Amino acid sequence: MENKKYQSKEAILELYNSPLLELIYKAATVHREHHNPNEVQLSSLISIKTGGCPEDCGYCPQSAKYNTEVEPHKMMEVCDVVSQAKNAKANGASRLCMGAAWKNIRDNRDFDKVVQMVQEVTNLDMEVCCTLGMMTEDQAQRLKNAGLYAYNHNLDSSREFYKDIISTREYDERLETIDNAKKAGISVCSGGIIGMGESVEDRIGMLQTYQLMETPPDSIPINALVAVEGTPLEEQEPVPIWDMIRMIATTRILFPTSVVRLSAGRTQMSKEGQALCFMAGASSIFAGDKLLTTPNPEYNDDMELFKLLGLTPTKPFQNGEKPTVGEDTGVNEMKQKNAEKEERLAARSIQFNKAGDDFKPRKFSEVDSIQE
Ligand code: SF4
Repeated sequence: MENKKYQSKEAILELYNSPLLELIYKAATVHREHHNPNEVQLSSLISIKTGGCPEDCGYCPQSAKYNTEVEPHKMMEVCDVVSQAKNAKANGASRLCMGAAWKNIRDNRDFDKVVQMVQEVTNLDMEVCCTLGMMTEDQAQRLKNAGLYAYNHNLDSSREFYKDIISTREYDERLETIDNAKKAGISVCSGGIIGMGESVEDRIGMLQTYQLMETPPDSIPINALVAVEGTPLEEQEPVPIWDMIRMIATTRILFPTSVVRLSAGRTQMSKEGQALCFMAGASSIFAGDKLLTTPNPEYNDDMELFKLLGLTPTKPFQNGEKPTVGEDTGVNEMKQKNAEKEERLAARSIQFNKAGDDFKPRKFSEVDSIQE
C-alpha cells in the first residue's frame, strides 16, 4: 500500500528534507500503525553462485569486469544450502535469500538446482527469496510453483542516475522482471543503494518510481554503499548515518505496509545509528557475517543489539501465507539422473572390490563416462 499524499517529487522531497526529529516521529507513528515496533525480521543472504557476472554494476565486486578480491565460485550444492538455511533458522532467521551472480536466469541444470533449493528451504518453514537477475514470466511461474515466497530485483537508484552506474542493462528491463514476479504472484522485494554519488533528487526519483507503481514492492531494502576496492565506486566516502535515517523514514511514510529493510552497510553504523533506523521504521535486517560477498555483523552481535533494544525476531509468513511446495519436472529428472549415477558408481565399486588381487584397471576409454 502506498501513501497517496506523496506522489509528486516535490512532495516527497519536502518530506525527506523536513526537520529530522519530526520526520522520525512521523515515520515511527506510521510504523506503529501497521507493524509491531518490537519485532525485526532476521534474513540470511547467501551467495549460491559467486562472481564472474557479465554485468557492470559499478558497486559490485562480483562483476567480471572489475579486479576485486572476490573468488568466483560455481553453483553451491543443494545440501550445502539446506544446511546453511538450518543454521540461519537456528539463529533466528525466518527468511533465506539466495543470490546468484547472473545477468539473467537460464533454463539449465543450475536453475533446476535453484528450484530444488527453493522447495527444500520452504519445507523448513522459512520464507525463501531469490535474486537471480532478469527473469521471464515462465521462470517466475516455475519458482512460484516450487514455493518461492519473494523475488529481489533492485532498481538501485533513479532512472536518470542508473546509466551512470550500470551500462549493460536498461532500467526498463528491471521493471519488466519486477512485473514478471508480480504476475506469478511472487512477493516483490526491490529497493536501492545510497552513497553511490547520486543526488538527493535521485533517491527521491527511485522512491517515486515505486510510488507510481500499481502495486509497490512488499519489501524495500535500503542499502548504504559498501565501497569495495577494485570497483569503480571504491573511492566513495561512507554515506552519513543521517542520510540513511532520512531515507528509511521517508520510505516508511510512503509505503506504510511494506517491510523496510536496513540492508548493506551496517558494519559502518553504530548501535545508536541502527537503533534510530529501527525507530524510523526499518523492520528487517540481514544477519550473518556475510552479505553475499561484503562483511556484515555476526549473529551474536545482532542478538546483543536486539537484547539491548528489547527487539525479537519476526516469525516467518507474518505478511502472507506459506506457499505450497509443488512438484517440478526438471528437479525430478535431475534427482533421477543423480540416483542412476550413484547406482552406477556403487556397482563399479562392488566390481572393483570383488576383483581383489586380480584387479587390472581398465583403460579409461572402457569405462562409461560418469559426467552428465
Ligand atoms: S549486482 Fe548482480 S547483476 Fe550487478 S554485477 Fe553484481 S552480481 Fe552481477
